[in-house]
Amino acid sequence: MRKKIVAGNWKMNTLLKDGMELAKAVEQQLGEKETDVLVIIAPPYTHLSRISDLINQVQLAAQNCAAASSGAYTGEVSPEMLLSTGTNYVIIGHSERRTYYAEDNYLLNQKVKLALSSGLKPIFCCGEVLEEREAGKLFDVVTEQLQVGLEGLSKEDMQNVVIAYEPVWAIGTGVVATPEQAQEMHHFIRGLLGRMFDDTVAEQTTILYGGSCKPSNAKELFANPDVDGGLIGGASLKAEDFMAIVHSF
Ligand code: PEP
Repeated sequence: MRKKIVAGNWKMNTLLKDGMELAKAVEQQLGEKETDVLVIIAPPYTHLSRISDLINQVQLAAQNCAAASSGAYTGEVSPEMLLSTGTNYVIIGHSERRTYYAEDNYLLNQKVKLALSSGLKPIFCCGEVLEEREAGKLFDVVTEQLQVGLEGLSKEDMQNVVIAYEPVWAIGTGVVATPEQAQEMHHFIRGLLGRMFDDTVAEQTTILYGGSCKPSNAKELFANPDVDGGLIGGASLKAEDFMAIVHSF
């Protein structure tokens, strides 16, 4: 059985005090009702160490990491530094990093490999922009993102990788993929993982959906056989909404 995961990407939101309150609320509400869903929050770098002391069941992710382990890379944060704060996961290849910081599949592949070799688990994002979908190129785009981004990984490495399918046209727009669109791509990705690795990897890899997921639509998205949870942006900034999504399974 693969893990069900709901992960909250806070992006560049919350000051430290508010972030600590939000993390405490998520931890507390998670303890109030039983679930087999793994809950992850990804606050800004500045909050990780303090929030790590406040949570127990909730797992911690960073939103990015460096592609180098140490040295003269001003402003960068290495996977090992993240681990030292109690962070276990890292989002790699979010569309905002690809778009605003020109992170390409080759750089992302370096980050994925370094994260894994350091002991950090990547949540690797992929997804097409609207023009690519309309031109019928969505499967080619996602194939390249995964083939290059996960190049050189072993089947064992894949036990520590989570995939997030996030159609860029759905991120922060309020336009959510239909359950059919999500299932179609998740099923495709699982087949691709089977061809890149093997059937066991395909079966065991958790594939999250991301893009305007909220309490009102999570249930029908998560009901699909290949959708194993969500990567949640805006709706992860309110503990009640985020936990309602967790309990949508
Ligand atoms: C995201 O940024 O990963 C995301 C899915 O954002 P939103 O839920 O706000 O669309």
